[in-house]
Amino acid sequence: MNNLKVEVIEEATLKNFNTYKINAKAKYLVKVKDIDSLREVLKYCQKMGLQYFILGAGSNVILDEYFKGMVIKIEIDNFEIKDKIVTCGAGMMMGKLAKRTIDDNLTGLEWAINIPGTVGGSIVGNAGAYNSEMFDNLVKVKVLDKNLEIKTLKKEEIQYGYRHTNLKDAQVIVLEGTFKLEAGNKEESLALVKDRCERRMASQPLDMPSAGSVFRNPQNDHAGRLIEEAGLKGRQIGGAKVSEKHANFIVNTGTATSNDIKNLIRLIQDKIKEKYNIDLILEQEIVDWKN
Ligand SMILES: Cc1cc2nc3c(=O)[nH]c(=O)nc-3n(C[C@H](O)[C@H](O)[C@H](O)COP(=O)(O)OP(=O)(O)OC[C@H]3O[C@@H](n4cnc5c(N)ncnc54)[C@H](O)[C@@H]3O)c2cc1C
Repeated sequence: MNNLKVEVIEEATLKNFNTYKINAKAKYLVKVKDIDSLREVLKYCQKMGLQYFILGAGSNVILDEYFKGMVIKIEIDNFEIKDKIVTCGAGMMMGKLAKRTIDDNLTGLEWAINIPGTVGGSIVGNAGAYNSEMFDNLVKVKVLDKNLEIKTLKKEEIQYGYRHTNLKDAQVIVLEGTFKLEAGNKEESLALVKDRCERRMASQPLDMPSAGSVFRNPQNDHAGRLIEEAGLKGRQIGGAKVSEKHANFIVNTGTATSNDIKNLIRLIQDKIKEKYNIDLILEQEIVDWKN
């Protein structure tokens, strides 16, 4: 590790790097703030035959207990606005991106104010809320490909759908996204943001660690409604509990392990299948580090 210019933390705890606050650990953790550092770390991993995992804000993942490789946390946060075109580093938090565009009297990203993820993670998963999503305003994405070459992918070159893109399978690392917004009105945008914040505060268990909605909504229905109706609100396995406030959230009551969360997910899926013959599809990502 000595010959790397970036600081590498050994035997790192990842508790503060995932919103479930799972006490996972990694042999190595590195935070990268620019493309050169990222390349250097990736070359090092290749040379040493070390597995790596790209992490944003860890707000959509259920992390496994221990990873023998290198967790690379993306903190690249360049930012530029030019004629309603916004270019933003993958490590910037979505709330910050939304706020900066609103401050510039641009409209289109208000929905993103409460997404506790990075721009990179949100592009990869096509995050969205209130009938809006990342790909509505996205124009192009700058990525680092498997050969460590920088490529620009136009929106049309990426396959995307509801909370999904093919970027993960393509094994590219998102470096930045470019968005085209519309001229807006700051006061109107702030009023919209206030409404969204109040709605979330009222309906989601934001005072407890979670990773947002656990399951996608089945067609013409709500996963939360089905789970509540099946009597699963408050059901607990170890430290993982189905939220009393919103049944499509699993919260960590303090000691939840990834197994607690995964077992509770399975229990919910089994019960919903048995009762309604519906297969609930996971919106969160189970990270299974094959050490
Ligand atoms: C309270 C709460 C509310 C939420 N509400 C919403 C919501 O309304 N809508 C919604 O869509 N989501 C929501 N989420 C889920 C989550 O915030 C989003 O999915 C977010 O986009 C994930 O971004 P991240 O940076 O945390 O990604 P991570 O969880 O860090 O990573 C997710 C995946 O993306 C990959 N990845 C991350 N960064 C990169 C990169 N730069 N290049 C390549 N791959 C990368 C990771 O390897 C991983 O596979 C919520 C979560 C919480 C905790």
